[in-house]
Amino acid sequence: MKKRGKLMNKKKCLQTVSLIILIMCLGGCKKSEQTSSHEKSFLAMDTYMTLSASGENAENALERAEQRITQLEKLLSVTDKDSEVYKLNSSQGSYIEVSEDTQYLVSKAFEIYDMTNGAFNITLYPISKEWGFTTGDYRIPEKERINELLKITGYERILTDKKGMLSLEENTQIDLGGIAKGYAGYEAAKILKEEGITSGLLNMGGNIQTVGSKLDGSDWKVGIKDPSDESKLIGSVAVSDMAVITSGAYERYFEKEGHIYGHIIDPLTGYPTDSGIISVSVIGSDGTLCDALSTSLFVMGIEDSKSFLEAHRDVDAVIVTNDNTLYATKNIISKFTPMGKYENSDIKEI
Ligand code: AMP
Ligand code: MG
Repeated sequence: MKKRGKLMNKKKCLQTVSLIILIMCLGGCKKSEQTSSHEKSFLAMDTYMTLSASGENAENALERAEQRITQLEKLLSVTDKDSEVYKLNSSQGSYIEVSEDTQYLVSKAFEIYDMTNGAFNITLYPISKEWGFTTGDYRIPEKERINELLKITGYERILTDKKGMLSLEENTQIDLGGIAKGYAGYEAAKILKEEGITSGLLNMGGNIQTVGSKLDGSDWKVGIKDPSDESKLIGSVAVSDMAVITSGAYERYFEKEGHIYGHIIDPLTGYPTDSGIISVSVIGSDGTLCDALSTSLFVMGIEDSKSFLEAHRDVDAVIVTNDNTLYATKNIISKFTPMGKYENSDIKEI
C-alpha cells in the first residue's frame, strides 16, 4: 500500500509538474508570440515589400526570407547586367549555364504557357521594350515593327536540351516579370515555415502571400484594390496559407488619345491586351502558379477565364471587368466580403 501510495504520489506529482509546465508554456508562448512579432520592409523586384511574422524565430526567418528574395532578384532581373536572365538575353544564341531557380521558372512558365493556350508567354520582352514599358518612355510602335518582333517570340525559341543550360534563338529575349514575384513569395513562405512560423504575411505589392493564419487562429483578410480607384478596395478575401495575387490595369500603363495601353501584352497581337478585364486576383496554394495565372487570365478575358477556371478548380479568382461587373469562383464567394461600390452588388459566380 505504501509503495502504491508512493507511486500514486509520484504520478500525481508528475501530473502537477506537467500541468505547471503546460501552463507556463502556454503563458510563455503567448507572451513570446506577443513580443516576437516582427516586420521588415525593403525594395526588391521593383516593389516595396513588407514582410511580417510572429513566433520565436520570426526575426531570423524574415532576415532569411529577405535574403532569398534578393538572391532571386539578382538571378531573374531583366535589367541587372549580372543576372542570369540578362546574360541569356544577350547571349546571341549560345548556351548559358543557369541556376536551378531559373531552370525551374522557365519550365514552369512553359507548363503555364501550355495550360493557358499561349496566353502566358515569357518571350514578349522585345515587344514590351518597343512599347516603352521597360523604361517608361512610352510610344505606340508601327504595326509592321510589332509584326516583325512577333516573329522572334515563341517558346520553341527557348532551347533547354542541354542539362542545366539554356539558350535563346537569335534576338529572342525573355522576361519573368509575370511569374517571378509569385515564386519569390512562395520561396519566402517556405523559409518562414522551415523556421516554425505559423503566422506571417508577405506583402509584395500586388502579391500577397499568407503563411498560416492570424495569431488568433482566424483567417487573414486580404484586401483587393478597386482598379478604378486604387485608394479603395472592392473587398477582401479570408484565407490561410494561400497566395492572393492581383494583376491590375492600374499597375503600369500610359494613355494616348483617350486610349489606355497597359503593360500586359497579348501574345497573339503584340498589343497591350484589351480583353475587358481590369483586375484579376488569383487565389491558391502555389504562389508561382497564381502569379502566372493572374497575368494569363488578364489576357484571356472573362469568357476564356471562366472556362479555364471551371477546368482548374485548384485555383480561385476574383475578376473585375470594365463594365464594373464583379465575378468570383464558387469556392471564394463565401470567403469574399465585398466593399465600397460593390458592397451591395451581385457577385457573378464563375
Ligand atoms: P503581372 O503584374 O504579374 O501581371 O505581370 C506583368 C508583367 O509580365 C509585365 O510587366 C511583363 O513583364 C510580363 N508580361 C507582359 N505580358 C505578358 C504575357 N502575356 N505573358 C507573360 N508575361 C507577360
Ligand atoms: Mg502575374
